[in-house]
Amino acid sequence: MTHFTGKVAVVTGAASGIGRALALELARRGARLAISDVDVAGLAETETMVAQLGAQVRADHLDVSQRELVLAYADDVAEHFGVVHLVFNNAGIAFTGSIEQMSFKDIDRVMDVDFWGVVSGTKAFLPHLIASGDGHVVNISSIFGLFAVPKQSAYNAAKFAVRGFTEALRQEMVNDHRPVKVTCVHPGGIKTNIARNSEQVEGLDHDRLASSFDKLARTSPEKAADVILAGVEKGKARVLIGTD
Ligand code: NAD
Repeated sequence: MTHFTGKVAVVTGAASGIGRALALELARRGARLAISDVDVAGLAETETMVAQLGAQVRADHLDVSQRELVLAYADDVAEHFGVVHLVFNNAGIAFTGSIEQMSFKDIDRVMDVDFWGVVSGTKAFLPHLIASGDGHVVNISSIFGLFAVPKQSAYNAAKFAVRGFTEALRQEMVNDHRPVKVTCVHPGGIKTNIARNSEQVEGLDHDRLASSFDKLARTSPEKAADVILAGVEKGKARVLIGTD
């Protein structure tokens, strides 16, 4: 038995990187999974890998920036499994560029996915997590949700916003005696393809960002998933990874 045995866990952005590693590790630890992504091919690969581990899994195309779809998805998942215990709001895109280079469209896209995606996932699943009597919201911010750097203003804004939203949520759950734990995760330097996967942001220099990521990234997504799940198990408010 592990902390996750029999629990129903939702992972957004599960087609690749940290989301895929989380789904696989949760499956190994006995969880049942609802995984989603906009990348249908990558998601199908994750679904197969999770199923090969013997876990119950459903996989859905879901763009987390589509609020109404996220709300309907949450109800559907809750009906499908009968209960939802854990939600990992992980889907995200990267953006690097000066304020002059950024179009409003780019800024909107980063905020829509990286911030509003987290808000929608939280709001949509919260009633189901409360109903489970043992819920947990895990929101993936970034090291850039803790400090600001040049040419990351949109991403910084989204990830600072995730942190503020998540920390307030945690306080609300405690003050209102709700049976829902809340954790904010701040990764940095995880070896994923996020720079190349962020095609939705038109103004992004994907190759330049990818090469800077390749130089700086030191921690594997599998290691990141281990650290996140250890923090979740302990009910930690904040988990930092790859920034040591
Ligand atoms: P990744 O690109 O490997 O995974 C992100 C996944 O999100 C992809 O599968 C992508 O298709 C999906 N996605 C993108 N837009 C989506 C949308 N609108 N709806 C649904 N799915 C969508 O990158 P990753 O590094 O594993 O990123 C996971 C999370 O970790 C992100 O929130 C990211 O900001 C955060 N993060 C990563 C690092 C790092 O060093 N890699 C650092 C800080 C924070």
